[in-house]
Amino acid sequence: MLPFKLVYHDRYDLNLGAHVFPSQKYRLAREALLTEGIATAEDFLSPEAATDEDILRVHDLEYVHKLKNGTLNYLEILRMEVPYSPELIQACWLAAGGSILAARRALADGWSANIGGGFHHAYPDHGEGFCVIHDVAVAIRKMQFERAIENAMVIDTDVHHGNGTAAIFGGDATVFTFSIHQENNYPYPKPPSNIDVDLEDGIGDEDYLAILEKNLHLAFEEFQPDLIFYVAGADPYREDQLGGLALSLEGLRRRDALVLDYARRHRTPLAITLAGGYARRVADTVRIHVGTILAAREAAGHASATAPGAS
Ligand SMILES: [Zn+2]
Repeated sequence: MLPFKLVYHDRYDLNLGAHVFPSQKYRLAREALLTEGIATAEDFLSPEAATDEDILRVHDLEYVHKLKNGTLNYLEILRMEVPYSPELIQACWLAAGGSILAARRALADGWSANIGGGFHHAYPDHGEGFCVIHDVAVAIRKMQFERAIENAMVIDTDVHHGNGTAAIFGGDATVFTFSIHQENNYPYPKPPSNIDVDLEDGIGDEDYLAILEKNLHLAFEEFQPDLIFYVAGADPYREDQLGGLALSLEGLRRRDALVLDYARRHRTPLAITLAGGYARRVADTVRIHVGTILAAREAAGHASATAPGAS
């Protein structure tokens, strides 16, 4: 049993078939967590879909209408890079509801993870790069609307820049955005985050971890968030088909430990989302996501050991 909750819904799977985005990974990650005895069925919470009101705090009315009525044009669907279906829209509203629930549980328990979400390429008025609805932004806006938090930080270690996040929160002093990504990779252009770490192609574990730590330090010097969303993409992995960095499985585990340790030391609630992952073997992508949950278990254990009664 875990010291925090995992959020998951069977309908997160977008049923994309042979698509490069392995959306069956959500189900496989849940199965691995259960069969390996890391989590029990009681650790999982099932989210409600986000309401349209929740979605509209981030996304434009016209775009939301097109999504719900199936009236996106050909170019708009092409840009999303995932086939349109009513099931896709249901999955996106559920993923946003999942990140809302993960935010709530992080604020209550110190930690949580949505075994889904992290759709950081979605903009207010369009979807792109497999991302339709920006679940993390929807969750942050809802927590702010409910006055559960004043401000938040998004730490994005997906190999691709968090362009949607930067566009949504650019000029908003209440949300600090941090993205560490491969510079020579989608998306182009990259609107500015508060901290953007542009990495050269082929960077390996030791260089990556040193650069990440230096910049996390700068981020926490500059900003003290009430809540952190960790966009824990699995695609900086050296076997990733869409990424050009060279992290090992062990390096990714250390990356997670580093980010989570910053949250622990700053006593800041943290919610995990999975984001991308396109390893040649889907099992590797699942292994990386499960590793993030194991790192959170470790960090949560340290937190309760060092601060009795606190989480
Ligand atoms: Zn990615």
